[in-house]
Amino acid sequence: MRDGRARGRARPGVFVDSRRRRSAALAVTLGCAALTVTLTAACASSGSAGSAALTPTGTAAQAPGPATSSATSTAATQGDATQESSDPPAASDPAVTSSAESASAATPPPVAVTGTALRGKVIAIDPGHNGANFRHVAQINRLVQIGNGSKACDTTGTETDAGYAEATFTFDVSTRLAALLRAQGATVVLTRSDNHGVGPCITERAAVGNRAHADAAISIHGDGAPASGYGFHVIVPHGIGSNDAIVAPSRRLGTDVRDAFHADAGEPLSTYTGTRTGALVARDDLGGLNLSEVPKVFIECGNMRNAADARRMTSATWRQRAAAALAAGLVRYLTGR
Ligand SMILES: [Zn+2]
Repeated sequence: MRDGRARGRARPGVFVDSRRRRSAALAVTLGCAALTVTLTAACASSGSAGSAALTPTGTAAQAPGPATSSATSTAATQGDATQESSDPPAASDPAVTSSAESASAATPPPVAVTGTALRGKVIAIDPGHNGANFRHVAQINRLVQIGNGSKACDTTGTETDAGYAEATFTFDVSTRLAALLRAQGATVVLTRSDNHGVGPCITERAAVGNRAHADAAISIHGDGAPASGYGFHVIVPHGIGSNDAIVAPSRRLGTDVRDAFHADAGEPLSTYTGTRTGALVARDDLGGLNLSEVPKVFIECGNMRNAADARRMTSATWRQRAAAALAAGLVRYLTGR
């Protein structure tokens, strides 16, 4: 995605994967374009190259397993959730830096998620992107206000080199996570109910958790960083004033999710961002965090452009393990267990 970003600079706001330039008209404007912060590796991560090349019928987006994208139509590009991207001011954020204890040292024992641990708790889950976004470019490119600027309503998300779409991954993990949380008594709300629609906009993704008065909210993504990087990272809000009240609890949520995901999903900490902050990255360019009124974090579960991460992320067995790890992190945050 770094390449994509560089190309994007020549054509501000538009990032097209060179491998799929034939449909340049469908190029999606990356959230990165609206950023005011310094663009570094993560934009790549997000913005990157990840064009969501799916089959014209969208079957790839709905397939539970690795999608077999023919890549014959597409090409909306961009990154990830973080579509909204850019490397965060992580290293310069004292709060985050101070909490950057070694994840391995901070790793708690596995949390036993049993019974009614989450009874009375409300959890909002946001499966990043949506399976048909790439066919509705104008709709998802529409700019929306995110509290400190504007950004695209949504993006297509990235994909693995084999064509397994991020939107498919996020919906699958979210569905598994929702089932695990409900089994423990939680009330769960999701920002979308299937993987063949469009959006919703990042503003609505935040509003879903707000309306539900969620005790915790999490947005699930897969990154599209340069192939050499691997591992996961958790993104926490960097206060912009209006969301200052959720900064501290979100950092606690992020720490619990980070620790549980590292211990229980077996995924390494990111090697390409948040390396000095224990894979916790603070950002103020994500609408989903800027507009949230409830404790919220994003997780980039892995780099879909990295071969080892892609193998894990396309495995249903690993996705279940990832969902269980996320559930453990939420239980720890919500119950102290
Ligand atoms: Zn994403």
